Amino acid sequence: MTLRLHLPAALTNTILTHAGWAYPKECCGLIEGLRDESGVRALLLHEVRNVAADPRTHFEIDPAAHFRLARSLRGTGREIVGCYHSHPDALAEPSATDRAGAAEEGFFWLIAGGNPQSWFTLKAYVFTDGDFRSVVIEDR
Ligand SMILES: [Zn+2]
Repeated sequence: MTLRLHLPAALTNTILTHAGWAYPKECCGLIEGLRDESGVRALLLHEVRNVAADPRTHFEIDPAAHFRLARSLRGTGREIVGCYHSHPDALAEPSATDRAGAAEEGFFWLIAGGNPQSWFTLKAYVFTDGDFRSVVIEDR
C-alpha cells in the first residue's frame, strides 16, 4: 500500500526558505502531524539546530529538541511524523549517510536539494522495510 503525504504548499515553501538561508550548511527540522493507516498529514514544522560535527555535509537533529517535542505532543493525537533536511549543492535524494541513519519504520523524510542560485527541489520519502521509498507530495 502506498503511504500518502499531505504537505500544504506553505510548509514546502518554509522548508525551501530554510534550506536557502542555512546554505551552505544543511538545515534540519521535525514535522508535526497526524497519522492514520493511509499516511500522514503535516501540520507544523519545527526547525531544529543542526548539531552535526560537519553541518555542510551532514545533519543531526538536536536530540534534546526531539525529545522535548515528542513529550509536548504526548496525548494530543499529534506526533512527529517525519523530518526534513537540505542537501546543499546536491540532489534531493537520500545519501548513504541518510540510509545509515534511518531507523524508524514509516518515518517520512523530506529532502531539499539545490542551492540559492538555482533554488531548491523538495522530494519526499518514507522509510519502510529497510529502505527509502519515494512519496508523492500532495499539497493540501
Ligand atoms: Zn541527507
